[in-house]
Amino acid sequence: MDKLIITVAVTGSLPTKRVTPHVPITPEEIIRDGIACEAAGASMIHLHARDPEDESPATDLALFGAICRGIQTKTRLITQISTGGRAGMAYEQRCERLQLKPEMASLTTGSVNFPNSVYENSPGLIEALAADMQKYGIKPEMEIFDLSMISNATALAEKGLVSTPLHFDFVMGLRGAIPATVENLVHMRRTIPSDATWTVAGIGKAQLAMTTHAILMGGHVRVGLEDNIYLRRGELATNAQLIERVVKLSEILGREVATPDEARQLLHLPLLPV
Ligand code: MG
Repeated sequence: MDKLIITVAVTGSLPTKRVTPHVPITPEEIIRDGIACEAAGASMIHLHARDPEDESPATDLALFGAICRGIQTKTRLITQISTGGRAGMAYEQRCERLQLKPEMASLTTGSVNFPNSVYENSPGLIEALAADMQKYGIKPEMEIFDLSMISNATALAEKGLVSTPLHFDFVMGLRGAIPATVENLVHMRRTIPSDATWTVAGIGKAQLAMTTHAILMGGHVRVGLEDNIYLRRGELATNAQLIERVVKLSEILGREVATPDEARQLLHLPLLPV
């Protein structure tokens, strides 16, 4: 079985300091968590930016730039920028950050009804973001919230808008998205192209179970405070603790953990100079 790629989604759009004091908000805090998570065993970091004043999701290119520069100079983590946008962020606000040429960026290939809002990704927007990633040499991570998004992703490849092999992230257990069951995970794995790589982001209390199944099934995993803020019921986690738990689990289950450079090889990314 391939070594395990562990992605940390350190921040996301939602958790605030009031909900968990451990969530990193400023570029300095995000970089500090990236360093700690690399030391704990992560090989990739999924990045969002926040307004340092009010903690809301930010689109400011300078913030994304500061975060990327810090991660790239202080770690060897694979940098993956989110192109997600809540509350009606327009294409212009979601694509600008791709100029920073991270190694990867997330690409959601469909729309989702979140509990109180629509996470809107129109066909035109998805294609425009895919074309931008291609222009900058960025490998997309297909963010899959439901089965139909897998066929949307393979259709992009057929159109030549993304290169193969594809890499998928199954986001499971979020209200409005596919439920986090083993049957659904097995079915999604079976549905993607056979040469594709895949990872699972289990949301909330689904994180531990989905992580465990992915380790056993030969997939990869994403953990972090974007997706889940608890270590166990009632006990808030730090990002590094969530990584440590995956590392411990994979040791028990007999799966080796990939270094960032090994993860680059598994994902067919260019290697960085030493
Ligand atoms: Mg995200």
